[in-house]
Amino acid sequence: MNDRKIPMDGLQAVGVVHAETIPKEELRFGQKACIEIFEEYACALDRFKEHTHFWVLCWLDRGNRDVLQTYSWHLRGEGALPYGVFALRSPCRPNPVSLTLVRLLRREGNLLYVDGLDIFDKTPVLDIKPYMKGDVVFSPKAPYIRPQRAEFVRRMFHKKAVMHHQEECAWLALAVRMALAAEEYLGDITDDSVSVRVRGGGCFIDTVQGLTNARFANPPRFACEGAGHCACEWTKDGMSITTVSRTDPAGHTHDEIMGMDGESLFVILFGKKDEDEGVPLRKKKRG
Ligand SMILES: [Zn+2]
Repeated sequence: MNDRKIPMDGLQAVGVVHAETIPKEELRFGQKACIEIFEEYACALDRFKEHTHFWVLCWLDRGNRDVLQTYSWHLRGEGALPYGVFALRSPCRPNPVSLTLVRLLRREGNLLYVDGLDIFDKTPVLDIKPYMKGDVVFSPKAPYIRPQRAEFVRRMFHKKAVMHHQEECAWLALAVRMALAAEEYLGDITDDSVSVRVRGGGCFIDTVQGLTNARFANPPRFACEGAGHCACEWTKDGMSITTVSRTDPAGHTHDEIMGMDGESLFVILFGKKDEDEGVPLRKKKRG
């Protein structure tokens, strides 16, 4: 008997994805979709509405199963190095099983309306599993794969912020915009070498913490000054940039803040830590 062979006779789809057809690059950020659980499995959904988030495992029937190394979609092009497929979420892999964390918007019988699904229309669903409260790793170590296109960096940050803060408010938008500016100068803002000191209301502080994965201790990367005019000091290797809001988010919607030009939204001050004046940092060159 070949002990690598898994008997698949009993494996069958428990449902199917219904989703709009959108460009592949867009789909990677997830979209609203419907997961239809087939009637014969409907009772497996008993008490499911108690879960706001769950994992979806699909069989990516269009994935290439012969590929063991490929490129991150973020980094195609000259100079990009391939990754082993186990280091990526690529649909191309020996067993093309996907794993996506989605948010449940509503349930209508055996139809689960979700947000954040990155799966093509008509893809077979193999399984769904609840995301449990103990599943959180707030600051995992993971390579920073930065999309080449600024628009994708922005969407990546925004998606992460919403996953953490759980609402698209104006303060979240301001935190995303400031974090993007900090990332331009300091690189990966989730890195242990980057610390952040925040002032503002709860929504703003919460979103900055979610975006930076910065904890108060172990290592101490996060400090909070409490309420006041929204501002963030971002420090790395003794250099700091400070982003100070010029606009009160209370007077704007989330979309207005996301669309506003950076200069009217906040001012950026450069300096060495603990000094009033310093040498401006240069923007990191992106290769
Ligand atoms: Zn909020």
